[in-house]
Amino acid sequence: MKKILITGGAGFIGSHVVRRFVTKYPEYQIYNLDALTYAGNLENIKDIENHPNYNFVKGDIVDEAFINELFSTHNFEGVLHLAAESHVDRSIEDPLAFVKTNVIGTMNLLNAAKKQWKDNFDGKRFYHISTDEVYGSLGAEGLFTETTPYDPNSPYSASKASSDHFVRAYGETYGLPYVLTNCSNNYGSYHFPEKLIPLFINNIINNKPLPVYGDGNYTRDWLFVEDHAIAIDLVFHEGKNHETYNIGGFNEWKNIDLVKLLCQIMDQKLGRDSGTSEKLITYVKDRPGHDLRYAIDATKINKELGWKPSVTFEEGLEKTINWYLNNEEWLKNVTSGAYKDYYKKQYS
Ligand code: NAD
Repeated sequence: MKKILITGGAGFIGSHVVRRFVTKYPEYQIYNLDALTYAGNLENIKDIENHPNYNFVKGDIVDEAFINELFSTHNFEGVLHLAAESHVDRSIEDPLAFVKTNVIGTMNLLNAAKKQWKDNFDGKRFYHISTDEVYGSLGAEGLFTETTPYDPNSPYSASKASSDHFVRAYGETYGLPYVLTNCSNNYGSYHFPEKLIPLFINNIINNKPLPVYGDGNYTRDWLFVEDHAIAIDLVFHEGKNHETYNIGGFNEWKNIDLVKLLCQIMDQKLGRDSGTSEKLITYVKDRPGHDLRYAIDATKINKELGWKPSVTFEEGLEKTINWYLNNEEWLKNVTSGAYKDYYKKQYS
């Protein structure tokens, strides 16, 4: 049986990828490696924990000796690397943590894969999952393509850009068979509520202020997380070696418009008078180095691999909101303890 390593599988996107691979490919043994940081939660993958082809390994990708030991115990044929420090605001507070996990951690995985595969790259693949934020900021016009120069502005995007460069360099220098994808903002179930959509759903439920950065005119492209998992599956199996693919939802929203839409839907769902939740909107001091607009041109993955989002934004948002309303226990659990301290520091 093929052994596949997926890192960060207890996080938001990783949990969807692990679920898809475990259930769709019984012929693979899936190893989910995760350090279970504040963002990692085994509840996110509880439904598949007893599958015979699922294995969980708790460990830190920054720990070189541990990673080498893991690769010497298991002969992985593929690596899907999603483990990362992923929150821009946290990267502004503690950039070094992002260098450690996103850069050094990626290096440790690259080195271990290179060492293990050195005699035979046939059928092997290192897949690095990355972000559109590496491209920097767009003005009102234009889209990020795979050839847009890197121009990261936050410590998070700089660390992801750095790890992307190392992955490509290992392909060029050592012939390591890699694929790389840069994706826009994801939304969906199991999303830690420090990120915009789950944060606002949770705050609306609890009648708490909705903190909107600056004037709210920041624009992001949004993609339903399960469509990202489908794209990842496709790229892992059918993408060309040494290629980058951009993944996006063809779905741009100004933050303030998105927040107002969420408020309208939530008022209906919660049986509140129209306009009730919008009153919770509060404009807060802008994030330093805040990128104005991200927008992805996903033509290449569409033309070469036939991928496009399977749900509209309206459908995806409906599924997402229903999920949070039906999983209040999950929300309560992840918003207790350390989350409370972080939230207080960030928004008070
Ligand atoms: P997340 O923060 O929800 O999950 C990250 C996971 O990595 C967590 O389970 C955490 O425990 C684990 N982790 C963190 N540090 C680790 C370490 N040192 N060793 C082992 N495990 C560690 O992140 P996400 O939103 O699911 O993002 C997953 C990947 O996708 C990241 O690489 C991110 O850069 C990329 N990405 C995210 C988005 C998005 O909108 N969320 C968009 C594009 C790309």
